[in-house]
Amino acid sequence: MRTRLGAYATFCPNPDCPDKGQQGRGNIGIHSQKEQRYRCTTCRDTFAATRGTALYRLHHPVDLMVLVVTLLCHGCPTHAIVAAFGLDERTVAAWLHRAGGHAARVHAAAVETGQVDLGQVQADEICVKVCRGRIWQAMALAVPSRLCLGGDLSSARDGALVTATLRRVAALRRLRRAQLAEARRIRQAVTDGYTLTPVQLTSPCRVAVLAEARQVAMHLMRTRLTWPMPARNRAFPCERIGQRDHSTVLHGVAVIAARLASGRQEDAYLRHMVRALGATLDATYEAEGRPYQRAA
Ligand SMILES: [Zn+2]
Repeated sequence: MRTRLGAYATFCPNPDCPDKGQQGRGNIGIHSQKEQRYRCTTCRDTFAATRGTALYRLHHPVDLMVLVVTLLCHGCPTHAIVAAFGLDERTVAAWLHRAGGHAARVHAAAVETGQVDLGQVQADEICVKVCRGRIWQAMALAVPSRLCLGGDLSSARDGALVTATLRRVAALRRLRRAQLAEARRIRQAVTDGYTLTPVQLTSPCRVAVLAEARQVAMHLMRTRLTWPMPARNRAFPCERIGQRDHSTVLHGVAVIAARLASGRQEDAYLRHMVRALGATLDATYEAEGRPYQRAA
């Protein structure tokens, strides 16, 4: 399965590269569409589009692995998959570990950092059969995205089991609320600074001053919050800055960073505005406390 490469939202995975892990810096180009490889112009390294995913260096068709992992997730026995697809048992086990490891990393990066819209949450307890017995598993699920928010295991089905899972969900909800409150403060500071209404800031209108205000809001979120970009991108639609997509946010952040660094006379007002908004936000944090603490 070959997909169209998109360099803008990709980042350099080379740990020795000065631009490692940075999206939207313009340092990533497409090295080969056919081989599905990117190139970083900073460190001149090339890397596969699947690097860092469960599909990296997979010697079988992607569709086959996805199908096998889906069957395993639905409880299909390994020997049935081996018989049906003619695969080695060790290959099936390795794919399960690959997929599980990647899911755990995604969970840590996306769910545990409060990026998932919780909305309604469903919690349930299920009985899991294991060698020589059974255990109970409590799980919580975010209804809007159907993403699992975490779970707990216990040999007994009691109040402690479900309480542990509910505490986990409550902590995620507090984090999410604090993040949205901080995003709201930034939006408020920008609308006040540019004397706009919230509707103007979120409208699709491309008048220069409105576009600049939106990009400044994105820049402030990028520089003042510690959430990874997709979270900010989702935080914006939560506040309804006009349903901008991920690339638009990255582009907006890059435009403002370039204008701030340019030192041109026509950007003097922008530099002044960004400094003033930063001071306003600092004063607000000092007076009211910061809702979302940066990770140390
Ligand atoms: Zn690089």
